[in-house]
Amino acid sequence: MKLTRPEHAAPADAAARREIPPVICYPVETLPHPDVAGYRAVRPGWDLLDEVIVPPREARVFEVPAGHFFRITSIEGPQVGDLNLWHAADLSERFYSGKTRALHGTHLSTGDQLWSSLPYLRPMATITEDTLDWYGFDAYGGSVHDVIGTRCDPYTHHLLSGGETYHHCCHSNLTRALAAARGLSLAEAERHVHDVLNVFMCTGFTRDTGHYFMKASPVRPGDFLEFFAEIDLTGALSACPGGDCSSEHSSDAAACHPLKIEIYRPQQAPAGWAPPAPSGYDRSQGADLG
Ligand SMILES: [Zn+2]
Repeated sequence: MKLTRPEHAAPADAAARREIPPVICYPVETLPHPDVAGYRAVRPGWDLLDEVIVPPREARVFEVPAGHFFRITSIEGPQVGDLNLWHAADLSERFYSGKTRALHGTHLSTGDQLWSSLPYLRPMATITEDTLDWYGFDAYGGSVHDVIGTRCDPYTHHLLSGGETYHHCCHSNLTRALAAARGLSLAEAERHVHDVLNVFMCTGFTRDTGHYFMKASPVRPGDFLEFFAEIDLTGALSACPGGDCSSEHSSDAAACHPLKIEIYRPQQAPAGWAPPAPSGYDRSQGADLG
């Protein structure tokens, strides 16, 4: 947060420095453009392979083979979901929220891809449909499906509440669910939990102070966010204790609802599609250059 009263006087050319126009950090022209129409073309006749209901203030793990789709649907009432993704065969390859944000922007929608951590940096999943795409950005700069937040967690709550304990933050829900699904200790599972895609959550940064804000999610029962799995995925979804995140999380105060995950197997792979390989960078990091 910037000082209300700066301690240092602005230089004579302050206005000129501020007027320099921004450039987009990563060129969007060279970013791969997934063939969303090609993915959608194989949806008719797909088979529902599995269905998982995530209870309120809990998380569940699900598996999606490469080339399959998964859909997260709001049921019963407005609810935010915190999504983690891993390569099913190697939990060290996991969703990289920060780089996904740098590549696609603060909030995701159809055609955006969820990238994996270094040194892999490949698309793990591609968003193939978003029923909340109509929302765009509101007057506050808010939008849905962000990669700017992290996940609610008991450590931050402990810090800010003067030492309170709350056990159903998304971080803990994801940890318990992964531990149970993979037969890991809580301590082992916790190391694999990472910053999320905030599914259905409506967030932004205040224009005046740059603070992270949330507001009531516009999601309604029947809304969904659909993904195509680019590689074999293990996913975990937490139904956030914040419910629609209109007021608070890290407590049992909010009305919470379940979320539904469906896994679909298409009749055939999309034309021309193959699972993406990890990054082609040779990982020598310049050490052989003297
Ligand atoms: Zn949460």
